[in-house]
Amino acid sequence: MELQHSVSLQPYNTLGLDVKAAYFIRINQLDDLYAAREFCQDKRCPWLIIGGGSNLVLTQDFDGLVMFMAMEQVCWPAEQPAGSISEVFLVTVQAGYEWDLLVEQSIIRGASGLENLSLIPGQVGAAPIQNIGAYGVEIKDCLESVQVFDFDSAQEFELFHADCEFGYRDSIFKRHQSWIVTQVKLHLKQESKPQISYGIIADTIESLTGESANHASPQKVRDAVMHIRRSKLPDPKQIPNVGSFFKNPIISIEQKQKLAQQWPGIVAYEVGANSYKLAAGWLIEQLGWKGFREGEVGVHEHQALVLVCSGSAKGREVLDLAKRIKVDVAAKFGVTLEIEPRLFDSRGEFYL
Ligand code: FAD
Ligand code: NAP
Repeated sequence: MELQHSVSLQPYNTLGLDVKAAYFIRINQLDDLYAAREFCQDKRCPWLIIGGGSNLVLTQDFDGLVMFMAMEQVCWPAEQPAGSISEVFLVTVQAGYEWDLLVEQSIIRGASGLENLSLIPGQVGAAPIQNIGAYGVEIKDCLESVQVFDFDSAQEFELFHADCEFGYRDSIFKRHQSWIVTQVKLHLKQESKPQISYGIIADTIESLTGESANHASPQKVRDAVMHIRRSKLPDPKQIPNVGSFFKNPIISIEQKQKLAQQWPGIVAYEVGANSYKLAAGWLIEQLGWKGFREGEVGVHEHQALVLVCSGSAKGREVLDLAKRIKVDVAAKFGVTLEIEPRLFDSRGEFYL
């Protein structure tokens, strides 16, 4: 284990927040987790595991050990003669592998299932934690199992899909802070119908290719998703951000009907018997926050759900803006917004 002291985490989080970790290591293999655990026990210090840093807000220097997940092996099924590959196959990927590289590689190998999740930043290991989702697909749709290392007990175990308690941007991993994901197994399909329930995907495929979207290949879906995302979402390398800052709230049918009377244009989608998902970005936009800028922080000009900042912003400034938006939305719509990224201070996670 190669331990470093007083390391800036600025390159390790997509908000570019310049806080320091008292101790820092790269996790290159499982043994490093055992060594890191011993170190934290000896020092009696807190620890934090990070991947791409695209879903966290670091508000203070961290008084403990930050571990960067760098285990990145991937195991594809052995190559077989064309026509003999099974219809569904398993890919096993270590947690530190880049998510979008996995999506790209899966399509190159003729597999489908991940294309709607193109261009989501971050690592494979973080993907099950909030059950990443985009354009009608979530990782749960193709997740077979997750390999876990419990930092408290030093136990290793495998959790299968049914054990993961997947929900909307949610899973069991959010409720077990000592669990570190070390490996993920996904089942992909050789062929499948494109998932084009979000109208914008079909429209974009048709406008980019001039062909019907009904039989679009995974590559064409990926191209469309990348096209839409690049036109709408800020690239964290240019404009620091963590994607959507708030989850879309789920409300009852009664609440939705009440809101729709007052706000006929409200954007809501049915998500099960008697419940609706409200587009939080629409709510925020109605209140005039889109494009807002104050000091080092602001709201993206094309997507009101995305808070942005400059390289010298502080985590607290980003959270103060989020709080103001939350209060405003609650006052105007009576809807409580929940923050999506994970929040950390000097000792560990906290909640707003
Ligand atoms: P990090 O930010 O490093 O970590 C996030 C949390 O997971 C932290 O609490 C961390 O401690 C924990 N964690 C990280 N790795 C592990 C591990 N191996 N074991 C246990 N805990 C771990 N999300 C979506 O769902 N859909 C989207 O479409 C989407 N689009 C985005 C677009 C942009 C431009 C950005 C910046 C973000 C977007 N996100 C989206 C959010 C984010 O990319 C995902 O949540 C992603 O899975 C986070 O991965 P990460 O490796 O960066 O995690
Ligand atoms: P959008 O297309 O402007 O749509 C606004 C919201 O309406 C989305 O959040 C989406 O919910 C919902 N929606 C749209 N069409 C829908 C349909 N046919 N059925 C059900 N719900 C529908 O959203 P966007 O901001 O450009 O994002 C596009 C996709 O990428 C979304 O799926 C979004 O979740 C994902 N994304 C996520 C993040 C993140 O950080 N979490 C960042 C950027 C983009 P859902 O969010 O539930 O899909």
